[in-house]
Amino acid sequence: MQLAGCKKDMKKTAQNILLSTAIAVGSFAAVPYNGSAASVTIVPDGGKDQIGSAIPGAITKSVYANFEKNGAYLLYNKNIVSLYKTPNGTKDGSIAPQMLSSSKRHGDWFLVTISDGSQRWVYYDDAAVELRDIDTKNDKLTLQEDVYLHTNPFAAYQTTAKLAPQSVTVLKQAGDWFYIQTAAGQKGWVTTLKAKYEGVTASFTADAIRGVTYKKMIVPLGNERVRPGLTMKPKYITIHNTANAAVGANALMHANYLMNQAKGAPDRWASWHFTVDDKQVIQHLPLNESGWHAGDDEGAGNRGSIGIEIAENADGNYAKAEENARKLIAYLMREYNIPLSRVVPHQNWSGKDCPHIILGRGSWSSFQTAVQKTYDVNEARYRVVTGGFVGKAAVESALARLKKDTGWQATYESTGQPNVYRIVTTTTFIGQAYAQSKAAWVKSRYGWWMTVRKA
Ligand SMILES: [Zn+2]
Repeated sequence: MQLAGCKKDMKKTAQNILLSTAIAVGSFAAVPYNGSAASVTIVPDGGKDQIGSAIPGAITKSVYANFEKNGAYLLYNKNIVSLYKTPNGTKDGSIAPQMLSSSKRHGDWFLVTISDGSQRWVYYDDAAVELRDIDTKNDKLTLQEDVYLHTNPFAAYQTTAKLAPQSVTVLKQAGDWFYIQTAAGQKGWVTTLKAKYEGVTASFTADAIRGVTYKKMIVPLGNERVRPGLTMKPKYITIHNTANAAVGANALMHANYLMNQAKGAPDRWASWHFTVDDKQVIQHLPLNESGWHAGDDEGAGNRGSIGIEIAENADGNYAKAEENARKLIAYLMREYNIPLSRVVPHQNWSGKDCPHIILGRGSWSSFQTAVQKTYDVNEARYRVVTGGFVGKAAVESALARLKKDTGWQATYESTGQPNVYRIVTTTTFIGQAYAQSKAAWVKSRYGWWMTVRKA
């Protein structure tokens, strides 16, 4: 099913629910977990409908009203829409249907440049204005069905050109639209749910990630509010706190909750990839598919990031849960080549105060520093380095032995002292501790002084 259609359905549902708000609110305020005798209420954090409304099924506006963000946005106003001098300010003219680009948003207001070169604000309202949040990519996508090329990422811009199933390069993504280039050089926007990014691992085979127990409880396909099945190549990692301190609200409880939601008929659009507590990591969604956790609708948060919920259940050790989360984050950073600058708080996408515990400490950067330390210890690449050998003949002979005995690639360099050289491996080892164990092995075998160096 196309998301555009699905959104319209949701709009209708939202209106219907709004009409009966007085009746609905109390009974929908929380979703009880019913998989255990010791019932714990799980209210999912951050889903598509979580912003500004506790009414399930109501897709409220994508982001918080005071949220500010620079980005690359395309707006297509299908009807005549009003222009404003400021967000929520005075009206200042209107424009005929056209496409507008914007690089700044304030809540659901977008700053656009109009034909005379001046700037105005336009209000994003799905009925009158379609929005695309453009994310730059350079990834291979396999199209699994025929698709029409569009000159812009809106249905109205369809051309008569059609592509057969093939592998293409994605240069930009906007929700379920991809700006692609074919091997033959043809470019254009396409949309299809039958496409997969190439080379993206969905999950891992190990039963632990850096010593933390790792389990998969992947929810079944079939319920787009929990598992939309939309192809993703993760470019970001989004961090959340569950905001649920109830006893028992741990990773397993959240996993059971999502499983029940996926198999049932939930009113909420909410799902994420991992929940981490003080004991384990549980995965809920494949990492080549997106979830609903960032609150930015079909923006780069939901459509391009791995969502990690850190549990804060009162019967758990929260500091340990965060430590386990850092290990998972660092592991994912290396596996998916995601830089620390793209490990972001949920707040980055929608303005929500999440992860509230980490943000409440007042500094996202201190969390990033801690993640970097974990990365250096567990995931960074290191070379093994020897102490000094006097003379080229000695170091060359030692180098030959080392390469023959280990199969490693290595070279030697000057230590800075005259005629003293040391061996440095060009083969690298993942994680400081692992590299140190290799260095220790060399030391025990040859008696050489050894160390490791970050590659
Ligand atoms: Zn969140």
